[in-house]
Amino acid sequence: MSTPNTVSTPNTLSTLTKVLVANRGEIAVRVLRTCRALGLPTVAVYSEVDAGLPHVALADEAVCIGPAPATESYLNAAAILAAAARTGADAIHPGYGFLSENAPFAEAVEAAGLTFIGPRPDAMRAMGDKAAARQLMAARGVPVVPGYDGEDQADARFAQEAARVGYPVLVKAAAGGGGKGMTVVAEPAALPDALARARRLALAAFKDDRLLLEKYLEGPRHVEVQILGDGRGRVLHVFERECSIQRRFQKIIEETPSPALDDEKRAALCAAGVAAGEALAYRGAGTVEFILDAHGAFYFLEVNTRLQVEHPITELITGLDLVAWQIRVARGEALPPQASITARGHAVECRLYAEDPARDFLPSTGRLVIFELPQGPHLRMDAGVAEGCDVSVYYDPLLAKLVAWGETRDEALDRMAGALLRTRVAGVTTNRDLLHAVVRHPAFRAGLTTTAFLDQHLPAFQAASDPAAVLRRAVVLVLHRACRRRLDQGLPTLRGGWRNNPFRGQREVLLDGETSFQIEYFDRGGHFEARHGTEHFVVRGVHPGTVFSAEVGGHRTTYRIALHGEYAYVADGLGISRFARQARFPAGIEAEAAGSLAAPMPGRVVQVPVAVGDQVAKGQVLVVLEAMKMEQSLLAPHAGQVVAVDCAVGQVVEAGAVLVVLEGG
Ligand code: ADP
Repeated sequence: MSTPNTVSTPNTLSTLTKVLVANRGEIAVRVLRTCRALGLPTVAVYSEVDAGLPHVALADEAVCIGPAPATESYLNAAAILAAAARTGADAIHPGYGFLSENAPFAEAVEAAGLTFIGPRPDAMRAMGDKAAARQLMAARGVPVVPGYDGEDQADARFAQEAARVGYPVLVKAAAGGGGKGMTVVAEPAALPDALARARRLALAAFKDDRLLLEKYLEGPRHVEVQILGDGRGRVLHVFERECSIQRRFQKIIEETPSPALDDEKRAALCAAGVAAGEALAYRGAGTVEFILDAHGAFYFLEVNTRLQVEHPITELITGLDLVAWQIRVARGEALPPQASITARGHAVECRLYAEDPARDFLPSTGRLVIFELPQGPHLRMDAGVAEGCDVSVYYDPLLAKLVAWGETRDEALDRMAGALLRTRVAGVTTNRDLLHAVVRHPAFRAGLTTTAFLDQHLPAFQAASDPAAVLRRAVVLVLHRACRRRLDQGLPTLRGGWRNNPFRGQREVLLDGETSFQIEYFDRGGHFEARHGTEHFVVRGVHPGTVFSAEVGGHRTTYRIALHGEYAYVADGLGISRFARQARFPAGIEAEAAGSLAAPMPGRVVQVPVAVGDQVAKGQVLVVLEAMKMEQSLLAPHAGQVVAVDCAVGQVVEAGAVLVVLEGG
């Protein structure tokens, strides 16, 4: 590997007249906004399923670059370059993910005579390989985690090195990213299997099965340094971000400043970040990631040669626009002096994902029937979707980033907690309640944030639901329907549910998952009365419109009703409930499905290691599915014989599709 520390970029200013943003979702929106603020015309690209996304509407022009699978659209370099040629764009901003750290793409952009708004391809290459990155940084005196990053990939060598650094160890893909293929190994006996699994995942995800091994630090913090380089040898830092709250080794909450650093440690860490950037003569915005152990020692993890998802918190405490700086650097402008970069207050970001924390963070897909984000002073909402959009199986399930600033950490966290409560999403499951639980947690408030936080403090998190609030929503929905019926019948003056016998009301049954509500109601002229079992409510204010303020049993709040497919959603100030009018699954289907293993999420089948006739043990992997950048194994719930296999490798399956049928024990 060549060390990319030679300086070749001349100090000439280049003009940049139209920017194509080669990405989707929130980051495309965010980059487009800055381009607009700088007066630069913009081009968006989109796949066939993304035509309705906000980034498409926000750009001055938009080009469809192919079908839904990313390999055919957002990873399709030729289609993106063709879109730039067609629209006359002379610069490309890659966002994060997709082609953002792809050196051949950056080279192709430059070969086409366009400006790539990002680091030089050689820096991407040098840092795209975790093993080479570790070696380069170690040579520059930046501390790296004790481990093994050599060429010899034999199991025996890994076993020897693991014994040297001491268990537990962490196996990583050298070409890795996104936590893929990362496996913690507790003891020597588990090493061969872990290596085999990591090689398989690495080969599938990165077409490169080289591995490296690191000492697994228990309960560390993830702290990273934002850097900006001019590509001519000057690198400055824009302070640190702490990103320890993670699931599956991936961040969900980030904040700055880190509660773990005092001024002296911060200065040392930021200096190490700058040293890493200088080793690359870094150009543009980048992030040097470190891991901080329980004693406060820090070790280099990797350099992300792009804008990070969590960059907004840095912007909120410094007032800088990092995308504007990426563009200025790409034009050859000079960076500001380090001393002019100062920070004020505290900022926190929560990543709102379409995923279910109660089901091991399984991604969730569907229509965003309700999607409301709060607005307010010192709140920044970076969203890539809007109400009515579909969350598909094809891309990362990030819906939005909620970012809050405060003079103090407590002020920022309080603001964030309130913002989360006012965030309302229906149609997909989200991690909103988990984020809220973290932000309110005493250990988090005390700054005791480590990467083990969720396992330690919120294991098996289940969102609590308030049964009284759910019942009030059911009552409101039933009465809302009654009002609608009256309107539809063109009988606005006749009481809904009018009967000859005023002592018998109307009845309706609603289902919320397994819970059914039998609600009886009476129209009393100006108000309704409703009964559920022994409970009795006086209800006022229900309206046939979709948003109304109503009082149920003395509680007044604003309700919003949204309908989609066979479901009705009722949102209020506390949360959202989803009701189905009828039982969706008659008992017979459930019984028949007893031995059938269904896809827990829509996805692509990547492995079917069993065949009809196989005897399998409890816990054995039957099918491996991939969706939204995640692998999910379907395990045998009991020992038995495979009597049917209803899927094949490569096939895209719907959630609920029966994939394997298992019989006996
Ligand atoms: P990726 O590029 O796949 O995201 P990283 O190397 O950046 O992988 O690590 C991601 C996360 O994994 C870190 O933020 C940290 O939580 C955890 N991690 C990585 N290396 C170690 C280690 N040696 N010990 C403990 N945790 C680690």
